[in-house]
Amino acid sequence: MANTTAELEALLMQRSLTDTQLLAAAEEAPDFRILPDATVIKIGGQSIIDRGREAVYPLVDEIVAVREAHTLLIGTGAGTRARHLYSIAAELNLPAGVLTQLGTSVADQNAAMLGQLLAKYGISVVSHAGLSAVPLYLAEVNAVVFSGMPPYGLWIRPSPADVIPPYRTDAGCFLVAEQFGCKAMIFVKDEDGLYTANPKTSPGATFIPKISVDEMKARGLHDSILEFPMLDLLKEARHIREVQVVNGLVPGNLTRALAGEHVGTIITAS
Ligand code: ADP
Ligand code: MG
Repeated sequence: MANTTAELEALLMQRSLTDTQLLAAAEEAPDFRILPDATVIKIGGQSIIDRGREAVYPLVDEIVAVREAHTLLIGTGAGTRARHLYSIAAELNLPAGVLTQLGTSVADQNAAMLGQLLAKYGISVVSHAGLSAVPLYLAEVNAVVFSGMPPYGLWIRPSPADVIPPYRTDAGCFLVAEQFGCKAMIFVKDEDGLYTANPKTSPGATFIPKISVDEMKARGLHDSILEFPMLDLLKEARHIREVQVVNGLVPGNLTRALAGEHVGTIITAS
């Protein structure tokens, strides 16, 4: 164990960076979480912010109250304006990287608005969640707002068949939670959680309180309440082994979910 670093260094000098022995040696370091006490919450774009004051004001009140007890990284979705941009840009035959930049600008707008509402409580928007000052903001006021789109920009890996950015704000917020080794990841949307079909168009759909990624795929629900590439990120994650999707239109749900209660749908990695 004492010379693990030396062994690893030797392997790194000699082997390819995907060599199996090298990867095994790199895995030997004990697990470490950067922000183990923080929770990432994603405030939906289409599902919450686009509903305006009626949906956003009560959530702002709830965030201000819960951050006394919980450390929050608050990510924003993009929503309807991004969908509008995607439709125009796709029709103009622009590539996925350009659509990603356009979507990012909308998530940024939502972060800017949420930030203004939280400003008087000392809660700031950071231009990049990975910024070094985040721990300081958290230590001071227990919360920070960030734009949920992952910063792949022009360099996003395109989907094979279309130009819609495959990794959007669900993935962006999830990756923040995973990389920082946060305590939990909560998606705040406008339905109680996952149903057997989209409840907006299938009134007979029934609620699913808990499900694994594999079950979701087996039941054809992979493309539903979360961006589907996110399910594979969850399945392969080291720290965040489950996420909860809650209805942010119901007052108190976010607070209860932060307290560890099961109020929506819990999606598990395995
Ligand atoms: P966000 O605002 O975070 O981007 P979305 O609008 O992309 O959220 O996703 C939430 C929406 O997913 C819900 O409003 C719902 O209409 C839709 N949806 C599709 N299929 C399902 C399903 N099986 N169960 C629940 N919601 C679903
Ligand atoms: Mg969405």
